[in-house]
Amino acid sequence: MNLKIIKNLITTIVIVSLFLAFILFLYQFLGYDRYSFEGEDASMPTELHPLIAKKKEQLIKEAKNLEITVVITESIRTIERQDELYTLGRTKEGNIVTYAKGGESYHNYGLAIDFAIMKHKDELTWDINYDGNENGSSDWFEVADIAKELGFEWGGDWSKFKDYPHLQMTFDLSIKQLQRGIRPKEDLDHHDAR
Ligand SMILES: [Zn+2]
Repeated sequence: MNLKIIKNLITTIVIVSLFLAFILFLYQFLGYDRYSFEGEDASMPTELHPLIAKKKEQLIKEAKNLEITVVITESIRTIERQDELYTLGRTKEGNIVTYAKGGESYHNYGLAIDFAIMKHKDELTWDINYDGNENGSSDWFEVADIAKELGFEWGGDWSKFKDYPHLQMTFDLSIKQLQRGIRPKEDLDHHDAR
């Protein structure tokens, strides 16, 4: 009699544990631990994702240690501004600077920044060969290496359209998913960055 109760108890515990493990698996598998699902009418972020804001500061600091002054020229961008940039080199005069319309850029979701390098006082450069700290390697690539170490994906590594100033953390989300209102949670760390 006693043995039967214990047996039943153990069976119950095993079943409940399996059920909880399955729920936890489902929760993680569907991404509820990393993302919030806000739907089509989700509001657009108005600030950089906290992790990117933090890594941006680290990037500036670590570049400074190599005597490179990094300047962040673009961070979060409104949809209106993205649409405006898209007209450059198309309906408006200028060079094409982006292939993304409003809502199609990681900048619109606070997940990307662009940098340039301060050459002299108040003079920025986008010259990827510039070696201001005179250590024999290009400052631009040194900054890109630091950024990648910090968890950023670098636009200079893309094969189609090389976007040398561009750094992003997508958290494995596509633009389509962001447009559907899926947002990375605020407390994600850099292992989740991509
Ligand atoms: Zn960019």
